[in-house]
Amino acid sequence: MSKRKLSRQQRWRIDKVQAERAKRADRRDSQDGEKLAAGEYGPEQSGRVVAHFGRTLDVRPEQGGDAVRCHLRANLEGLVTGDRVIWRAAHDANDGVVVARGERDSVLERPDVRGQLKPVAANIDQILIVFAVEPAPHANLIDRYLVAAEATGIAPVLVLNKIDLLPAHGGELRDLLGRYEALGYPVVTTTTEREDGLSALHARLAGRTSVFVGQSGVGKSSLIDRLLPDEELRIGALSKDTRKGTHTTTTARLYRLPSVEGDEAGELIDSPGIREFGLGHLDAQQVTEGFVEFRDLLGRCRFRDCRHRHEPGCALLAAVERGDIHPERFASYRRILESLGET
Ligand code: GDP
Ligand code: ZN
Repeated sequence: MSKRKLSRQQRWRIDKVQAERAKRADRRDSQDGEKLAAGEYGPEQSGRVVAHFGRTLDVRPEQGGDAVRCHLRANLEGLVTGDRVIWRAAHDANDGVVVARGERDSVLERPDVRGQLKPVAANIDQILIVFAVEPAPHANLIDRYLVAAEATGIAPVLVLNKIDLLPAHGGELRDLLGRYEALGYPVVTTTTEREDGLSALHARLAGRTSVFVGQSGVGKSSLIDRLLPDEELRIGALSKDTRKGTHTTTTARLYRLPSVEGDEAGELIDSPGIREFGLGHLDAQQVTEGFVEFRDLLGRCRFRDCRHRHEPGCALLAAVERGDIHPERFASYRRILESLGET
């Protein structure tokens, strides 16, 4: 919102629009209320949002079966794919109404066109950051993804794809990934070129809800094609109404992955927007805290407002000196701050 003062007439118009909106919502709510009271809907049950289109959602019943097209009670706003909900099925039609949203364990947000953060998916357990042997990953790029992931509170996992292209000894790339493993980040290697090339990935996905992010060309589509080989599996995530409808799904969708070797099935939330996940607009503090090996040292600099540049008594610089912080990670840190205009 700009800080420009609104004219009285503009103010009046906005108030009027908002009053209309509230009245419409009330009306919808009382219609729902009447229908709910009249017993047109069955008992409350649990479900999870697998796709959403404005005030219409596809909800997958917890006990399984096809997703059901649902609308929202008027007092509910801002549900996203991955949300756990309480819903009720209509007796006379193949649809339902969502009456409540469950607590969220996590939420992935993206700036909208006006730069305001909006949730795009919820209840994600891990962010799979995909890299490839080619195009070769730069450490700084990995750090950017890790920092962005850390800021969401969702656990990041590094996935190195195209290992069929890796030289026998692995070279620098193995050293690089070893460094991240030493920081506690899980690293999984994959290739879509071999039958068993995804086994480590399958094990990582089991029983969790994941998203794939990463630069274009690293193989995200190829990996997802392999994980969801069957067109039915992709379409099957949607309600019959949505399949028939004209909704082209740029919206995030939740897929249940087929279970492999008796492992618990995993879930995948995917959309073009999610794949483009990045630093968004993090501030300096979020970036600093996004470097996990800094965390124990923060607050230990001599100066409370230390910017970890040249200050005497800086705990981070001392740790770089000692070799506890890798100099390339520290250089990366500086570079990220500079790119965000925070120097
Ligand atoms: P995305 O942009 O991240 O979705 O990447 P794509 O899935 O479109 O893959 C980019 C290119 O890499 C395509 O030409 C794929 O065939 C290729 N590719 C994907 N996975 C592998 C792999 O494991 N090994 C090799 N050699 N090529 C791969
Ligand atoms: Zn410092």
